[in-house]
Amino acid sequence: MPTNTTDLNPPTRILMGPGPSNVHPRVLRAMATPLVGHLDPAFLEIMDETKELLQQLLQTENDLTFPMSATGSAGMEACLCNLLEPGDEALVCINGVFGERMADIVERLGGRLVPVRAEWGSIVEPEQVATALQSSRPKLIAVVHAETSTGVLQPLSQLAQMAQDRNALLLVDTVTSLGGFPVQADAWGIDAVYSATQKCLSCPPGLAPISLSDKAVSVLNARTKKVQSWYLDLTMVRRYWGQDRFYHHTAPISMIYALREALRLIHEEGLDARFERHRRNHETLVAGLEAMGLSMLVEEGHRLWMLNAVCVPEGIDELQVRQTLLQDYNIEIGAGLGDLKGRIWRIGLMGESSTKNNVLLVLTALEDALRRQGHEMESGAGVEAAMKSYAAAE
Ligand SMILES: *Cc1c(COP(=O)(O)O)cnc(C)c1O
Repeated sequence: MPTNTTDLNPPTRILMGPGPSNVHPRVLRAMATPLVGHLDPAFLEIMDETKELLQQLLQTENDLTFPMSATGSAGMEACLCNLLEPGDEALVCINGVFGERMADIVERLGGRLVPVRAEWGSIVEPEQVATALQSSRPKLIAVVHAETSTGVLQPLSQLAQMAQDRNALLLVDTVTSLGGFPVQADAWGIDAVYSATQKCLSCPPGLAPISLSDKAVSVLNARTKKVQSWYLDLTMVRRYWGQDRFYHHTAPISMIYALREALRLIHEEGLDARFERHRRNHETLVAGLEAMGLSMLVEEGHRLWMLNAVCVPEGIDELQVRQTLLQDYNIEIGAGLGDLKGRIWRIGLMGESSTKNNVLLVLTALEDALRRQGHEMESGAGVEAAMKSYAAAE
């Protein structure tokens, strides 16, 4: 044993970045329960329950619904590599890091990419997609519901209609939205959807729930070539999650315990109550930030409830603010990515982290951090506006 190791003792952080979010003690406890084998009858029952809880959250009857054994990016890659074959056309809406990631994967798969780009911080306008469809015939239209790099909520209904009219599959990234904002896979006409455990599901990172409609499954069944990725090949993975219980890889048992417990917590709270909690805490945070003279990157109406992109005021060292929050308040918030690096902070209010307590704390901490850099503002204005906002809602 290395001589200088000590007991594991990481700090207890308040996780208010772009993920992971804080995890309920019940989820941590579930992970510490005894292991069984991945083909144990007791585990097969746990798999079925997890699948059903996921179907309820995604509001779908899709039989092909289960968590992939890897993070959200693997859910993205699984959907794309199972539904596309080399030479297939894929239209990808790109207005942030995760749209870019989907486009990158399409190209790596040998797909023909039709990119539709919008400015980071704005939605992709349905008209842009309509224009691109005049000169393309994509097999699949891919879009990020909640773009975590910018804080933008993408409206889906018109894109779904266009996909349906063109007989294209609609693929939606719900990594950040699922569990904090409604996702109605069936009613909205989504053919393929993936998510991840560590954002609004408030579970550690490690699984990527996915779900495919019957139409997407028939595309999968009609493939002429094998899926390029062995590990992510749904024609095999589905046989483990289906009646065959065919061994493919060893399922991460403890993570599935965790997901099952996290989903139970979500359904105990109730979907409507949970979404309303996310909405309320977001609106209150914004009221507080604006009372402090700060402004949001995204225009009202297109903002995410679980990820708030806040513009860094002129003359402020954004890194130093994040360091103050971490060192003195134990709060983690996120920095900007790509072109937004140095220009925004990303404050997450995801799952267990979306609380009144956290909203008031982060406003207090931000005021302190900004004052230390000589930024002038009315003392206590943020918290006062937040308190008013909460009182008005009661
Ligand atoms: C976090 C995130 C991903 C990637 O998930 P990982 O678990 O980090 O692999 C994909 N899409 C969106 C919108 C995300 O926020």
